Amino acid sequence: MIKKEIEDALNAQVNAEFWSAYLYLSMSCHFESIGRNGVANWFRVQYKEELAHGEALLNYIHARDGRVVLQPIQGVPTEWTSVKSAFIDTIEHERKVTSMINSLYALAEENRDYATRQKLNGFIAEQVEEEENVQHILDNLDLIGEDGAGLYQLDLELAKRTYVDPAL
Ligand code: MG
Repeated sequence: MIKKEIEDALNAQVNAEFWSAYLYLSMSCHFESIGRNGVANWFRVQYKEELAHGEALLNYIHARDGRVVLQPIQGVPTEWTSVKSAFIDTIEHERKVTSMINSLYALAEENRDYATRQKLNGFIAEQVEEEENVQHILDNLDLIGEDGAGLYQLDLELAKRTYVDPAL
């Protein structure tokens, strides 16, 4: 049986992951609508990853005999002025998620909930990967600047991303 305080915090994280999914789906739709199909593909894959994060936590709450309570998902932005601005929003958001996961981990530690702590290890590793991937794209965008050929090349690169179920 899981402590109520931890159950509530995990439920809040489920909501945060589904909000992330909604944010990236919105980015994907925006870039698809303006013909940046590679960027749209990258965010579509990201959307699926966030759904998997939410589901992994939801499954874990069930495994601990807890109760999943799905909350409404808040609205998300629908337009971005450039590819770079979307990736800046992405890294800022992922840094926020990282600090939420860290707070959850601290709560599990405080409560000596070792099972939750162990579950969160996978999420901590996942956040390192998320931030690294996005930072790499931002570094490339800095190199490219306003160069159309460079942006076209990056779009082709981002079109190659495929979804791999995160092992959580
Ligand atoms: Mg996530």
